[in-house]
Amino acid sequence: MGMTLAFDGFVKTYEGFELGPIDLTVKNEVLSVLGPSGCGKTTLLSTIAGIVSPDAGRVTLNGRDLTGQPPEERGTVLVFQDGALFPHMTARENVAYAAESMKQVEELATTLEIEGILDQRADTLSGGERQRVALARSLATDPAALLLDEPLANLDAPIKRRLRDELRPLLSSLSIPIVYVTHDQHEATAIGDRLAVMEDGTVHQIDTPKEVFAHPATPFVASFTGSINVFQAQVAGTDTSLVLDWNDRQIETPGYGHEVGEDVWFCIRPEYVATTDDSAADEANVLDGNVTRRVFEGDDYLVDIAPDGMDDVIRIKLSPPVYDRLGLADQDRIRVLLAKEAIHVIGDRNGDHESASDEMTTVQSEVQ
Ligand code: ATP
Repeated sequence: MGMTLAFDGFVKTYEGFELGPIDLTVKNEVLSVLGPSGCGKTTLLSTIAGIVSPDAGRVTLNGRDLTGQPPEERGTVLVFQDGALFPHMTARENVAYAAESMKQVEELATTLEIEGILDQRADTLSGGERQRVALARSLATDPAALLLDEPLANLDAPIKRRLRDELRPLLSSLSIPIVYVTHDQHEATAIGDRLAVMEDGTVHQIDTPKEVFAHPATPFVASFTGSINVFQAQVAGTDTSLVLDWNDRQIETPGYGHEVGEDVWFCIRPEYVATTDDSAADEANVLDGNVTRRVFEGDDYLVDIAPDGMDDVIRIKLSPPVYDRLGLADQDRIRVLLAKEAIHVIGDRNGDHESASDEMTTVQSEVQ
């Protein structure tokens, strides 16, 4: 049977903070909720779980109103960051505490690959093991919906990636509504069937991760999901294609439905900005500039470029072989192409953009 978790005009207010109104439906799917610290992710989960009550609106599970129901009767299970296991009990005892039978404990142990650590005390488990035991214990209650609050937040990078890859099929196989909260964009996109991006108590966009990344609804979403290149421009022409005026340069874009003179934003992800050579000098969307900063991210290089005559900075992402071939140094001249089809235009409905790049969790080291 299909399960549905639904929010209907849902609002929760604290002094100086308002979450909502949220209207949102989660079916048998994993909804990742992505947003910076303090945007209201935990408050959202806590209200579904019944730990805090909304000021307006309601939450329903399969049509049943959860508002006002005590947490233990809701059929939802909240798994917090640290798993909250009983430290002095073994992993087996922790799972058995919630399970109906020892057979169920064994089955869950197999699914979550914790057979080998069942007799270990919870306080001696590693972070990754603790998470899996906590998840097994939650699943033992046969929840009608599962709420996960940054379950991988305290793990180091390799195990985080492995668990992330393992969690995805496991969560999908449960066929219940799952809300997965994180502030890590990689985790959110890897785990979620759909992605909700939040800022300051409001949901900016809900869609498939692919769609959110390709067509961010607001400058905030673009910026928070890694499109560092988010710029303000004005519509200069709409004849054959949408032409923007950006710092007195004309940029051709694939947008439609805009009017000449309208203020808009346009964005392009750093990995879609291409370096190009002399032969492209007269083509549309080709810019010359100087390299101002280079950052090695482990897998890629991020290179900042100040286009001639502009205050804006374009960031490009280069794979190590390409970076090495170009042999870039600070202040080098460079020519880049903002490919028309890689540009996404955002209307100015949500103009109060702030850069979210500082919030992103990337291991960076400046290239010397
Ligand atoms: P993080 O990623 O840091 O956990 P979050 O997105 O989960 O953040 P919340 O914990 O939901 O954010 O908090 C949202 C806002 O509500 C914050 O400004 C927080 O200070 C405030 N807040 C949360 N709980 C309470 C409370 N019980 N009383 C007053 N304010 C609260």
